[in-house]
Amino acid sequence: MPYFICTTCGTQFAESDSPPLACAICQDERQYLKPSGQQWTTHDRLQKSNRNSLRHEEPGLIGIGIEPAFGIGQRALLLRTPTSNILWDCVPLRDEALVQAIRGMGGLSAIAISHPHYYSNMVDWSRAFGDIPIHLHAADAQWVMRTDRNINSWTGETLVLGNGLTLIRCSGHFEGGTVLHWQDGAAGRGVLLSGDIIQVVADRRHVSFMYSYPNHIPLGASAIERILTAVRPFAYDRIYGAFWDMTIQADAQEAVRRSAERYLAAIR
Ligand SMILES: [Zn+2]
Ligand SMILES: [Zn+2]
Repeated sequence: MPYFICTTCGTQFAESDSPPLACAICQDERQYLKPSGQQWTTHDRLQKSNRNSLRHEEPGLIGIGIEPAFGIGQRALLLRTPTSNILWDCVPLRDEALVQAIRGMGGLSAIAISHPHYYSNMVDWSRAFGDIPIHLHAADAQWVMRTDRNINSWTGETLVLGNGLTLIRCSGHFEGGTVLHWQDGAAGRGVLLSGDIIQVVADRRHVSFMYSYPNHIPLGASAIERILTAVRPFAYDRIYGAFWDMTIQADAQEAVRRSAERYLAAIR
């Protein structure tokens, strides 16, 4: 039986002989249903029409995308430390050439995901690399559409992964919204991989914070304060956002402070 994938958000669902009646992720007010209605595909079909793309971002960090773009244009990041490789966020396609390439780099030891818009086909990725753990914040458990024994539903505010990597729960866009702090990134100045929990915006000098990006629903002041408090103990100079090229190369900590200040001024 196939595992259907929603073509709008790229989420893979549990095994079923016919497509699910609806996509709960797209019906949520943080996503949307296209005017043409709900459509489904499968990984087999996606493999015929699209392929994975790779891009070097900085030493130890490789971007993984899909061409042509699919779903919401998800881009994952392969983070390499001296002893293990971690997949940050996920993409709905996992072609065999990419799996071989990653195995050639030492494989993967874990997957960590910022929020449900990036869950995609995380279970397939875990299987391909030997049933590795998938770290998801427990507060978003209701949004897991394909449950699996490899999901580590973590609780609390931080999860230390070792090698200078820490998952930080920020909430905001999703109750379990998480960013990853990479202490050794940016030549030791520190990096945040932020998904769209802290969204890098067009000028790449500012960020924003929204409950819903497609529907332009903002977050309140207390949610912004909570995000700032969560990341404050961590030093970072660079932020990689949710999509290709959405990177603040330097002075990112100051960019977050400045952006939060103007955001709070706008909503108050
Ligand atoms: Zn969907
Ligand atoms: Zn999102």
